[in-house]
Amino acid sequence: MESQIQQIHQQLVDKKITCTALIQERLDLLKANTNNTVNQLLEDIALNLAKKVDAKINNGDTIGLLEGIPFGIKDVYMVQGTKTTASSHLLKNYKSAYTATAIQKLLDAGAIPLVKENCDSFGHGSSSENTIFGAVKNAINPNLVGGGSSGGSAVNVAKNYTVFSIGGDTGGSIRQPAGYNNIYGLKPTYGRISRYGLMAYASSTDCVGPLAKSIEDIRIVLNTMSGKDVKDQTTYASADINTENLTNINGIKTVGYFKNFIESDAIDAQVKADFLTTLDKIKAKGIAVKALDFFESNTLVSTYYTLAMAETASNLSRLDGTNYGERVESGSLKETYAVTRSQNFSEETKRRIVGGNQVLSQGFSDKIYLKGLALRDQISSNFEKDFNTVDIILSPVTPSTPPKVGDSLKDPHAMYLSDAYTVGFSLGQLPTFTIPQGTATGLQISAAKNNDELVLKFANFLKDTI
Ligand code: GLN
Repeated sequence: MESQIQQIHQQLVDKKITCTALIQERLDLLKANTNNTVNQLLEDIALNLAKKVDAKINNGDTIGLLEGIPFGIKDVYMVQGTKTTASSHLLKNYKSAYTATAIQKLLDAGAIPLVKENCDSFGHGSSSENTIFGAVKNAINPNLVGGGSSGGSAVNVAKNYTVFSIGGDTGGSIRQPAGYNNIYGLKPTYGRISRYGLMAYASSTDCVGPLAKSIEDIRIVLNTMSGKDVKDQTTYASADINTENLTNINGIKTVGYFKNFIESDAIDAQVKADFLTTLDKIKAKGIAVKALDFFESNTLVSTYYTLAMAETASNLSRLDGTNYGERVESGSLKETYAVTRSQNFSEETKRRIVGGNQVLSQGFSDKIYLKGLALRDQISSNFEKDFNTVDIILSPVTPSTPPKVGDSLKDPHAMYLSDAYTVGFSLGQLPTFTIPQGTATGLQISAAKNNDELVLKFANFLKDTI
């Protein structure tokens, strides 16, 4: 599909539509939606901004490419004047004190925020059912989950309620719901986009990224949000990616894939067959395909969850009802903390806080947390070694198709295992891009750190190849 941003921009400039009508139409669709994608509609903000865009156009002023383009925001980003709930009871009335850098850059470019989107609470989940706003339902089949944790964002894009949405990806939360709803979703290289104003889940893998219906729209939004930010010391300066650079596959000679992902018993037979067909089509175009050894899925999932739980236990320790959150008074201060947190965090979030504190506690940290860190180093060096012999690593996004609404809540362990293919790339901090092709839940394209351009380039090639 061609760029919706370019198309709508042209319609605005040619006065074929007004910005107000466009925004009103999308707001009405969001209001009427039955997929539970909305935590808060930003109606007044959006309509006021739309009026200004219309006034500029009527005045004969030029408008920027993103000016007037409606977008959605996962409800874990601070946007001044809106609530940021993280889909939790604890923060259901929390007002953002400032605006996240990535979102501010989009606002500065004139894009119009429509909605704070439903997601798994604090990013904890793979189905968008761990939320006080009701399970997000899949855009293609509402009996299935929307995927998580950025489920509301993926469904809004898939349903054309937003032109693009901004998700957050710690262990797959942009890539997996993008795959489940057949759209594009990019987790950029860690540090390419500032995390300032994104509620922290696991700070060492948290990434900001776009979901959209075309590679071109992903590129435009990525360029707008990227860059060094003094408020996030892990950010770095990056050059803009030009659209002309995406039209050739110069520099892509060999594509690797992880043998054990594809030979695992856990992979759905159709996903496997479709993935192997994709590899054949790539070979037919003269690109070499190489099987690679990698860590077992169980090791990847346990390493990721050990570190993610440790980091989230630490990050969420500030949420005790004193400075943030719904406070529940009890006998003593200590009891107040305990009751506030027990009553206001979900079962899944509490499981992670307890697990995280356990792996960090004396007597366990050496055996579990430090071992997790050591494994992460090995995973990163493995990637470095692999990228000496291949340019791209290709993988299915998930081993199987989306579960039915309700199933993941009954079996959290099965839900953790559904992240088997996404979490390794997060631990490696690599740019990884879901495309809606190749298997029922898409494909993931990864490259070495800072090679975000290469993943978009390969996606462009696959668009016409498979
Ligand atoms: N499903 C993974 C988890 O629950 C990833 C979530 C995310 O990326 N926020 O940790």
